[in-house]
Amino acid sequence: MSILAPSPTEKLQAIYAVLRAVRAASRRCLELSLQGLLDSYVSRGLLQAVPPWECNRCGSRDPASFRRNGVYHRKLSTLSGVVVLAVPRLRCRCGAHVKLSFPVLERRKRHWWDVWLQVMEGLGERVSVWHLRDRLWRRGVYLGRSTIVRWLADMALPALGAIPGRTDEIQVDGLYGHLWGPLPRRWHDHTYALLIAVNRDPACPEKVLGAVLAQTEDREGYRSLADLLLSRGLSPETTLTVTSDGAQAIRAGLGVSFPRAQFVRCLWHLSRLVGELAPVELRDEVRRDCRYVLRAQDWDQAVERYQRFREKWLQRAPDSCRALADGFEDAMLPLVSKTPVRQRTNGLAERMAREFRRFLRPREALRSTRTAPALVALALAQINARHKREDWLPAFLGAALGWPQRLTEFRVPLHT
Ligand SMILES: [Zn+2]
Repeated sequence: MSILAPSPTEKLQAIYAVLRAVRAASRRCLELSLQGLLDSYVSRGLLQAVPPWECNRCGSRDPASFRRNGVYHRKLSTLSGVVVLAVPRLRCRCGAHVKLSFPVLERRKRHWWDVWLQVMEGLGERVSVWHLRDRLWRRGVYLGRSTIVRWLADMALPALGAIPGRTDEIQVDGLYGHLWGPLPRRWHDHTYALLIAVNRDPACPEKVLGAVLAQTEDREGYRSLADLLLSRGLSPETTLTVTSDGAQAIRAGLGVSFPRAQFVRCLWHLSRLVGELAPVELRDEVRRDCRYVLRAQDWDQAVERYQRFREKWLQRAPDSCRALADGFEDAMLPLVSKTPVRQRTNGLAERMAREFRRFLRPREALRSTRTAPALVALALAQINARHKREDWLPAFLGAALGWPQRLTEFRVPLHT
């Protein structure tokens, strides 16, 4: 005797039946929940000494002035399907209609918050606008591409809040990309620079402390980045140690906001630069010798090794000698610094810059200046979320609702 396996037709029909039942139940459940909230909002308001609305014509806020005046029907698109709500209406004693705004129902919005969350989650996870639209269409939610782009452009950016824990060592780097669409005032071309500050401190779980979109890696851009750190609670008096690839704009910009900051040159970048400035056939040896200088254990040893390097290479690789002379003091600063310096390269900043590049890669590039800040904020939130082990989505919901602080958790899962 053999067991008869169900046919593909039977399986399909079973799956179909289950999904249809789940969808019908969740649609109905959503409809009842929203309806219940609308009704109770009005009932509770009528019982209050001062209701949460007033008459536009006579200005009355006396609960005795208001009478229920039937309902009007409104359709709302949700991930569970279209729900129809009977929105309560009120009339004032003076005869005017009373405008109500419900906490659970936005004016002139055809989609409920679950759709908005789905869109933001998808955009944050680098789903393209086209794919996002198709994904929603498959769920019976009709949302045009332009609406998704508008939501992104209108997105409120969550506050970054105070830096968790203290930090006295940071790394700074800039990365370049292409900005589409009309340019902001005074921008000459479509290249943008994203300037980032990252945290080296093991005690602080937040990795990217701030990102600033600028036209290029200039002093003004880095000054804004420094001011962002000030706004997050870093003291201008702190003896901040800043490690970078040695761009002058970094020192000039951050030095304005942090006058006591000390600037350390990345050892890796310096030895690469010194090597590249030598004639091709000597590069490997010059770079090796340079690394030997930079690996010195104390200042005297470093100076001695530097002098030997200079004697050996001054004739054959003068540009390399000049580059090492220029960067030597900044690179060796940790050997003489009063405050301990743990970081000698800006490798972490470079790794974080690569993560940003993955988020803002050319295909998904910053398509317009209107949506660019939102995309950068989404990328930053996601990059940090992994290290902070927090859900990044609540912060954006909180910002959209006007929540003043950074919302770090939502008591039910937002992922529908
Ligand atoms: Zn009135």
